[in-house]
Amino acid sequence: MSLRLYNTLAAAKEAFVPLDPANVRMYVCGPTVYDRAHIGNARPAVVFDVLFRLLRQLYGEAHVSYVRNITDVDDKIIKAHQQTGEPITSITERTTRDYHHDVSVLGCLPPTTEPRATHHIADMIAMIGELLARGHAYTAEGHVLFEVASDPGYGVLSRRNTDEMLAGARVEVAPYKRSPFDFVLWKPSQADEPGWDSPWGRGRPGWHIECSAMSRRYLGQTFDIHGGGQDLIFPHHENEIAQSTCAHGGQPFVRYWLHNGFLMAEGQKMSKSLGNFYTVHELLAEFPGEAIRLSLLQTHYRQPLDFTRAGIQQCRQALNRVYTALRDLAAVPCVEPAAPPAVLGALSDDLNTPEALAHVFALVGEAHKAEPSEQAAIKAQLLGAGALLGLFGQDPVKWLRWRPQPPVDGEELQHLIIETMIEERRQARKARDFARADRIRSELAAQGILLEDGAAGTTWRRA
Ligand code: AMP
Ligand code: ZN
Repeated sequence: MSLRLYNTLAAAKEAFVPLDPANVRMYVCGPTVYDRAHIGNARPAVVFDVLFRLLRQLYGEAHVSYVRNITDVDDKIIKAHQQTGEPITSITERTTRDYHHDVSVLGCLPPTTEPRATHHIADMIAMIGELLARGHAYTAEGHVLFEVASDPGYGVLSRRNTDEMLAGARVEVAPYKRSPFDFVLWKPSQADEPGWDSPWGRGRPGWHIECSAMSRRYLGQTFDIHGGGQDLIFPHHENEIAQSTCAHGGQPFVRYWLHNGFLMAEGQKMSKSLGNFYTVHELLAEFPGEAIRLSLLQTHYRQPLDFTRAGIQQCRQALNRVYTALRDLAAVPCVEPAAPPAVLGALSDDLNTPEALAHVFALVGEAHKAEPSEQAAIKAQLLGAGALLGLFGQDPVKWLRWRPQPPVDGEELQHLIIETMIEERRQARKARDFARADRIRSELAAQGILLEDGAAGTTWRRA
């Protein structure tokens, strides 16, 4: 089955041909660890996890290297430390742990390597030295800057003209820059800021050089796939290309650039700065991680995805159908799981997860009607498709018994859970499942929450 991927660099879908099929190499920009991940940050983790699983299936598990970094030196981290007084390592370690927890509950495999920026400062200093030696960087007031004018290829990924670049993203104008496009490779640190000794004084790296240095360390100068969200195309990925190609005398850096679309909330990109975000942590108190994962995979990864709780709730119900089928097939002897060709074909077509899922749900329909002689094959196909998508791996009975686990804190969260249960009850009644509707009502009553049905729907009050 041949894999095709949409390459931002070519602005087209291309056949994927790895440089070395015995070692397929992918790098994805990971989190900056100053705060909990929101569900938008989870989108690239889940999308590239599916690609990782697919590559492992196509090339063999031992033949895929997936590197996802941890950015643990950044001005946002310093700011968080200044605001709360919590030591920097405590912030970064706690947030890294939270991130690992969140993405594992979302069904993501750990990457092959997860380098931390602070463990690779020497690699960054070495690369900055190479850029200076080759005439692509200059020093000014304790900073080292990349000189964009020295790179004739600059702009190859984002295809922006200089006006758009200036108007576009975070291009900082500073008096020590020769041009506003020049970006920081190294900057001086104040005494109370994290810093490392370097040929240019005590300081810390810029964000872009981290990824160039760490990807080279683990994947070499040229590798196959680089991923991240669309917001990273410019300036982050454009600058990574400039650094890496210029440090390597023009040798190509990455062959396929993949970018996921935005997760949207209330019509805007979900982001910390806009405040329109939901952390994975808070959603996990309301929904099983697998339902959240499915909600991220039901839309093609390059499309914008509107976040709604109702959407996740529908995914939970869809998974209930799958797990009910798997529970009913529990006694059927398991043959080797293998994804059906239609699912593999859809995923190989630029990760068409919505189409792959449509095939899976058709299979679930077949499972319910299957003759005993067909059941083993259907079970194997369901489990095989699930393994590729990172779904259906749980104990069906446990899944079907899952219920929201409200954290002790958070009045607001409790309200959300109540609303979710009311919505579930409404759905149950619509489906004439009155026993279930009554169970939800009594469960809430046991917590002192009384439901009142009226013409305008159901409201609640405390007993
Ligand atoms: P950050 O921690 O902000 O650097 O983001 C980590 C990853 O999440 C990057 O790959 C971003 O492109 C991605 N990302 C951030 N916000 C969103 C969003 N609303 N939708 C999809 N991806 C996002
Ligand atoms: Zn990066």
